[in-house]
Amino acid sequence: MSLKLRPQIGGMSPYSPGKPVEEVRRELGLERIVKLASNENPLGPSPKAVAALQAAAAEAHLYPDAAAHDLKAALADRAGVSADRIMVGNGSDELIHYLGLALLQGPETRLLIGDPTFVRYAASGQLADSRIDRVPLTSDWRHDVGAMASALTADTRLVYIANPNNPTGTIVTREEIDLLVKALPAGCLLVLDEAYFEFAEGSADYPNGLDLVQGDLPVCVLRTFSKAFGLAGLRVGWGVAPADLVDAVNRIREPFNVNHLAQRAALAALSDSEHLHQTVKVNADGLAGVWSLAESVGLSVIDSRANFACIDLGRPAEPVFQALLRRGVITRSGHVLGMPNHLRVSIGTPAEMEVFAAEFRAVWQSL
Ligand SMILES: *Cc1c(COP(=O)(O)O)cnc(C)c1O
Repeated sequence: MSLKLRPQIGGMSPYSPGKPVEEVRRELGLERIVKLASNENPLGPSPKAVAALQAAAAEAHLYPDAAAHDLKAALADRAGVSADRIMVGNGSDELIHYLGLALLQGPETRLLIGDPTFVRYAASGQLADSRIDRVPLTSDWRHDVGAMASALTADTRLVYIANPNNPTGTIVTREEIDLLVKALPAGCLLVLDEAYFEFAEGSADYPNGLDLVQGDLPVCVLRTFSKAFGLAGLRVGWGVAPADLVDAVNRIREPFNVNHLAQRAALAALSDSEHLHQTVKVNADGLAGVWSLAESVGLSVIDSRANFACIDLGRPAEPVFQALLRRGVITRSGHVLGMPNHLRVSIGTPAEMEVFAAEFRAVWQSL
């Protein structure tokens, strides 16, 4: 039997995540496995979030609040906007999917993205059968905002800037964002995906996207609880968008898209500034460690403001990724991320980073 599937599905690929620890354990029979592949919080969730989860577990028989009232109210307060400007999703991945559904349909609509950037943007464009315009990053792996502005057309409906970018960790400045906003054609939305905001916000040249959503610019900011807040397994993302777009997403979204436990845990995590502070500190130290490691073996690292770093190996990263994997260290090979000579390593605990440094040195010396 062969079904008449939508033709654009054939051109799409399933998402390829970092290798799960259990899979590596099964395949290689290793005891010690360190996963530095998915930009997860190495400290785990906030204890306040865990307590909220435990309390909410006994209410798992009830449908969640479809309006996510308490969570949206807290986020609106934090963002300095009214609650009708807030949308929440089953991870920001789900919101990316909805933005594509809301704004893209057919080849007369265009999606503009950097290359390489987060792969889910292109997936939403492929599903919509829209044109996807990809603008290569600059030689120092930053979004080429000037070239992106020049690539806008009257048909461009959606533009993504991941700030910091994934997989590079590089940032764009406020001046660059302003340039792009000024160049947007009528009806086009700029999305600032700030999944790594909390790690970057200490940098003087890093802008807060929420400053741009206070007025009525066609700008949407996406944030997530998956990275600094340590709740990747619960899937909670949020965004601030023009009210008519939030209204559109409310019409198309799954009614209970953020589950009850996730809503409660996210709300509790928001109030744990100590956990966030620790997270950002451990990350800054870990990033500095990757720089010294790379320097000590004569390699360079892309200037990342996120919770991962890309080491330029100057040769294909895949064999290095494989060799590290055999030694129980899971990283990401740049070959699946559109930068084949780079190895992307997520920042772990100090102990995990010591294992990484030792194993990386051993692998590098054996090449
Ligand atoms: C991790 C990541 C996301 C997805 O986060 P979820 O909220 O877990 O879906 C979105 N954008 C970028 C750039 C990311 O790296």
